[in-house]
Amino acid sequence: MESSLAEFIRFDRITKFYGPLCVVENLDLGIAKGEFVSLLGPSGSGKTTLLMMLAGFEQPTSGDILLDGTAINAVPTHKRDMGVVFQSYALFPHMSVGDNIAFPLQMRGLNKAETNQRVTRALDMVQLSALVDRRPSQLSGGQQQRVALARALVFEPRVVLMDEPLGALDKQLREQMQLDIRDLHRRLGLTIVFVTHDQSEALTMSDRVAVFNKGKIEQIGTPRQVYDEPATRFVAEFIGETN
Ligand code: ADP
Repeated sequence: MESSLAEFIRFDRITKFYGPLCVVENLDLGIAKGEFVSLLGPSGSGKTTLLMMLAGFEQPTSGDILLDGTAINAVPTHKRDMGVVFQSYALFPHMSVGDNIAFPLQMRGLNKAETNQRVTRALDMVQLSALVDRRPSQLSGGQQQRVALARALVFEPRVVLMDEPLGALDKQLREQMQLDIRDLHRRLGLTIVFVTHDQSEALTMSDRVAVFNKGKIEQIGTPRQVYDEPATRFVAEFIGETN
């Protein structure tokens, strides 16, 4: 990503302790508007914790998170204008696809007309309009994950956060969804922060990859940079090179 692009998200010296355990240590990271950044690293390296702090589900022990230049530490989750997709997409089994997507809108008191409009738009974004009346059990895993995506997009958020969203899918579906998410990113100009422990997934999908190790970023760069010029032995080994 060009450095001339305006920075949209900034983690400024973020540290997070759980009790005595330091899981994110003095971390700096800037993300541009419209950028697709993967947080890549082994299990337990602090990726999800960073994402949860960005979403507002966790608070940093110290440091600031800025969105468009403004510190958002004190801004509650629902006012951060972010859509979140987890691995376990947890659709309501007794509700239709349309009702699953409408649910968060109804919770916030939107009227029926606006709810319907937004549901239609969100389903259109993930190309699932034809399945609006189906139950989740009548969908494939990939389709269910796309419903979860639609639910995250229904407020048309500025930022979409994804935590191992494809982890539960088999290889073929996973590859299809990788393409779908890339496509969505391009079409909608979304800023996406994507957590994964899968090297090839991060390398194929992202504009930039941040390689995590023990609560710190070992290297951040384009997939090419991280792959061709690993900055540390850890990165080289984790990416699968042994230079
Ligand atoms: P990753 O996403 O890279 O797998 P996490 O951010 O989930 O890593 O976890 C980083 C570390 O923080 C792990 O050691 C994990 O056990 C610990 N951790 C995560 N959430 C909590 C919590 N709510 N309470 C205590 N420890 C936690």
